[in-house]
Amino acid sequence: MNQQSQFPSQPITIKINPADTSAVICPCGSEVFSEGVMLRKISGILTGSGKTTIKGFPVMYCVKCGKAVPEFVPEEFKPIVAC
Ligand SMILES: [Zn+2]
Repeated sequence: MNQQSQFPSQPITIKINPADTSAVICPCGSEVFSEGVMLRKISGILTGSGKTTIKGFPVMYCVKCGKAVPEFVPEEFKPIVAC
C-alpha cells in the first residue's frame, strides 16, 4: 500500500515569474535585507516564573542603513521600533 499518494510530503511549488513580482525597497534605496532578531526582556511578573526571560522575535532589516523594514515588523512592535 502506498501511503504517499494519500499524504504527499512534497510541498506544491508555484512557478513565479520575476516580472510579476515587485521589489521591497527600503526608504534608503537599498533592496538587500537580512534577518535579525529583536530581543525583548519579559518581566518575571508577566510570566509568573519570577525570573526575567528573554524572547527573540525575527525581523527583517536593511543591510545598508540597518533599520528594520516597517512592513516586516510585527504590528505589536511598530510603536517601539524606530523604522
Ligand atoms: Zn535602508
